[in-house]
Amino acid sequence: MSLPRYQNFVNGCYQANLSGETFSVINPGTGQVIYEMEVADASIQQAAIDSAHEGFARWSAMNGVARSRILMRAVALLRERNDELAKVEVQDTGKPWQEAVAVDVVTGADSIEFFAGLAASIEGNQQDLGGDFYYTRREPLGICAGIGAWNYPLQIACWKAAPALACGNSMIFKPSEETPLGVLKLAEIFVEAGVPAGVFNVVQGDGKVGAWLTHHPDIAKVSFTGEVGTGQKVMAASASSLKQVTMELGGKSPLIIFDDADIDNAVSAAMLGNFYTQGEICTNGTRVFVHEAIQDIFLQRLLERTRNNIRLGDPADPETNFGALISAQHRQKVLSYIEIGLAEGAKLLHGGQAVQPAAAPGGFFVEPTIFSDCTDDMTICREEIFGPVMSVLSFSDEDEVIRRANTTETGLAAGVFTNDLRRAHRVIHQLQAGICWINSYGASPAEMPVGGYKLSGIGRENGRVTLDHYTQIKSVYVGM
Ligand code: NAD
Repeated sequence: MSLPRYQNFVNGCYQANLSGETFSVINPGTGQVIYEMEVADASIQQAAIDSAHEGFARWSAMNGVARSRILMRAVALLRERNDELAKVEVQDTGKPWQEAVAVDVVTGADSIEFFAGLAASIEGNQQDLGGDFYYTRREPLGICAGIGAWNYPLQIACWKAAPALACGNSMIFKPSEETPLGVLKLAEIFVEAGVPAGVFNVVQGDGKVGAWLTHHPDIAKVSFTGEVGTGQKVMAASASSLKQVTMELGGKSPLIIFDDADIDNAVSAAMLGNFYTQGEICTNGTRVFVHEAIQDIFLQRLLERTRNNIRLGDPADPETNFGALISAQHRQKVLSYIEIGLAEGAKLLHGGQAVQPAAAPGGFFVEPTIFSDCTDDMTICREEIFGPVMSVLSFSDEDEVIRRANTTETGLAAGVFTNDLRRAHRVIHQLQAGICWINSYGASPAEMPVGGYKLSGIGRENGRVTLDHYTQIKSVYVGM
């Protein structure tokens, strides 16, 4: 039986490439190739640029209320098709159905709804200068490029498209080559909702297609989600035409648990911040600092809960809450970090192995893995693993843990668990991280800006502040 074959989405419809070049996409839960995707060759690339220019001209000429109304229709369609889209995300990413059906589409739609609500209130200001006056206009940038990672393909595309489109820009989006299908469904929905052709285009391919976008002089802005090293390349390429950039990159975030914390709540957070989406989340609190006085009881409850509550298996099974890693290659990378952890003296308390569940024998699974007795200098405590590997470190006082938490080059997220509210805020204020949680971990509502300090990124996604990243200010001096 021949496999389904998908095309690029340009100028409001699917378009065949001329080269005939395709790449294969694998379902990480089964290890099987599930479809072929056409690469955006030179003909598609040119068509995407041309249609994004035309789309921008039409879309930016509409007023905010009209754009908002159309985007709200897209939100309704996304929510209606939640389950169909969640199925695509499960097959492409290997994440459990129970997560995808509850989170991926919902949080993507939330972001579009939030920015659609703001589309009609994007405004400049004016000031009297004693006769003469000036006013400002907040104008869109033009064609924005979005480049996505593979862990939340549809959500990442929505988080980039929402502010870009609300502000009147057009977008060319390139999803990760590991997970390219969900974004095509989003493009279909935008067109069905009434977004004019050319406003949201999808080009497919690997880093070469991404690099083409970042070098193209007609593109005004790049919003990138991915690894730090790739982000640095994207920024260097963007410099040639001084493109604006938003960078959502990796992290090695601290989760700090003081001796007065609610231990069960802290255990829940450590599990969520390491094992949700089988550990493939950028904000994960992978360095779990536990106060020495509660270390034993914390580890005991953590192990009990991990043994009893994690159900690793076929991602499509509604009972599964721990799925497959994105690829065989990534599984190998995660396993090699586990070996390094052992070689450098960390104590393996749980997991550590690749597994082949009976219900999903070909999938790329690694057990939830817990190391204790970790030290700051260990490789597993310094480098992002992007898999289900938790490192538990012990600490004895507040100043010490703040200093140690800040030793990494990245600064994406941080969590603090304590019942002393003054301490919670005092500690959070000293942590070098852009996304922080107190007595909670991982929630990211559309209203809240998210983004990193240090090597974890530039700019923010979600929240009202993101409007600034997709508009530019024109000042108009009026002589009377
Ligand atoms: P990656 O950097 O390998 O790839 C990301 C995207 O960049 C892909 O679409 C890829 O095709 C493209 N790309 C590769 N080379 C390029 C180049 N030279 N120019 C332009 N584009 C290029 O990252 P990944 O493996 O897909 O994703 C995992 C990483 O993403 C992790 O580091 C994770 O922390 C990070 N991430 C960050 C956030 C966040 O919001 N901060 C969210 C999700 C993932």
